[in-house]
Amino acid sequence: MAPPRSVKPVLLDDAGPADGVADVLVVGFGCAGACAAYEAATAGADVMVLERASGAGGTSALSGGELYLGAGTALQREVGVEDSPEAMAAFLREALGPAVDEDKLQAYVAGSVEHFDWLVARGVPFSPGLYDDPSWMPPTDDGLMWLGERSWPFTELATPAPRGHRPATGHFGGWLLMDRLAAAAREAGVREEVDTLAERLVVDRDGRVVGVIARQYGEPRTFLARQAVVLTTGGFVDDDGMLAAHAPHLIGKDKISCGGEDGSGIRMAQAVGAAVKHMSAGQVGLHAVPAFMARGLVVNKHGQRFINEDTYPGRIGQAALFRHDLDCWVVLDEKGYEEVPEGERWGVLPHHVADTLEELEQLTGMPPGSLAATVALYNEGAARGEDPMFHKDPRWLRPLEPPYAAIDPHRSFRGPNDPPVGGGAAVFTLGGLATDVDGRVLDLDGQVIPGLLAAGRASSGLAAWGYISGTSLGDGTFFGRRAGRTAASPTERDPALTRAPAPA
Ligand SMILES: Cc1cc2nc3c(=O)[nH]c(=O)nc-3n(C[C@H](O)[C@H](O)[C@H](O)COP(=O)(O)OP(=O)(O)OC[C@H]3O[C@@H](n4cnc5c(N)ncnc54)[C@H](O)[C@@H]3O)c2cc1C
Repeated sequence: MAPPRSVKPVLLDDAGPADGVADVLVVGFGCAGACAAYEAATAGADVMVLERASGAGGTSALSGGELYLGAGTALQREVGVEDSPEAMAAFLREALGPAVDEDKLQAYVAGSVEHFDWLVARGVPFSPGLYDDPSWMPPTDDGLMWLGERSWPFTELATPAPRGHRPATGHFGGWLLMDRLAAAAREAGVREEVDTLAERLVVDRDGRVVGVIARQYGEPRTFLARQAVVLTTGGFVDDDGMLAAHAPHLIGKDKISCGGEDGSGIRMAQAVGAAVKHMSAGQVGLHAVPAFMARGLVVNKHGQRFINEDTYPGRIGQAALFRHDLDCWVVLDEKGYEEVPEGERWGVLPHHVADTLEELEQLTGMPPGSLAATVALYNEGAARGEDPMFHKDPRWLRPLEPPYAAIDPHRSFRGPNDPPVGGGAAVFTLGGLATDVDGRVLDLDGQVIPGLLAAGRASSGLAAWGYISGTSLGDGTFFGRRAGRTAASPTERDPALTRAPAPA
């Protein structure tokens, strides 16, 4: 592995003539960058975005487009869903914790209805409709989906409401979200420098961040900011060195990324004293079909269940990876398999089929009697409509009957005879720069680093340890907007920065 380039800051005095100057420099043109740039520009700032790829998009454009919003959005009301800020906060606090940033949580919940309206006003379309089955990505254009809200333990904390808001594409909608956000930023007057890789921050003698040293077509370039630099460079899943240092469990898994999430923004900021938070946390997209899991069991290599299989599949993935090293199987019966519409099976066929549980134990290498004991206990409760072990919702409870099937997540969404790929799950990092609720980057003393802001996966946002789909695009867009407004605010302006040359 090549050693990473130095991220040590460069003094303004040594930075050389500026190749570009703006009030606000935004680094990265994904969802957080687009929102930061839009808000800063509409607040009156001259904004320039630096993007290493040849255009806007980032991981955001490849994503499902699900945004976790609620507390009574216009879409929820249109579909007849009742929700409240209290219920939304109670769910997120439990699902994204422990150690959720309460200020961010409260701000996000309080601003959720407005944020949905803002997205609609930027041209992001949502169709009224609710997809009612557990899914990574519904094959319909229903605008709402469940993301674990009606599974235990959340059902004991708050009245469940579906809060997954999906752009109307009928499948992965991240491209549509990014198309609209990037267009909005451009219409607001944001300038773009693409094929531009930011490598170091520029600081003045007082330690204020006043620019970026970048590389464009192999040549060094200096970009200066009269007011602030906003880092929206995504997380660090693409850098195995950073994973080894902070989140080693995520090494060797498929990467949920555009390929540009190498933690460069996080490291640049660390080099000027920024603190980081929750760096070991990660979303774990188990390669398993949620509708199969809900109808069956997820067991470890000892044939034991470890979670309610109807919960948000990323929670199952985290438990499977962090507690069982992804050594697990999805076990279900033929009836459960057949119940799932073909479009929701993601092409997955059982890897082993058997008429008896003893035979399935042999085929999967589980200890003799282990799976049989698990299924016997499960079936006994299911016959009464109860799951005393893990509290799966009665809606999914039914005694399993032969023939049985076992599905190996290591084979991904592929045929039963295909070799294992990708380590059983696809992951991305949740930790990042410590920021306040308005996007200002904090140092190790909790003090603001003047001139430096961050949002999206470059920062630690709503998810502290747990993760729920939609909170990454959700907090990236929401706190991206806040960071953009902060960056453009006159109170952020440093009079000393008038020394930065005017735009050519
Ligand atoms: C298949 C898939 C499905 C997903 N589904 C969902 C979903 O439904 N809901 C959800 O919330 N999340 C989802 N995610 C995760 C989500 O897309 C990301 O976590 C989120 O988009 C991160 O946004 P961001 O703005 O922080 O980063 P990005 O969108 O990745 O933007 C960062 C940008 O910064 C650029 N960059 C990086 N370093 C530099 C540098 N040094 N200099 C200049 N530019 C730089 C990158 O090229 C990139 O364009 C999904 C991801 C994938 C891949």
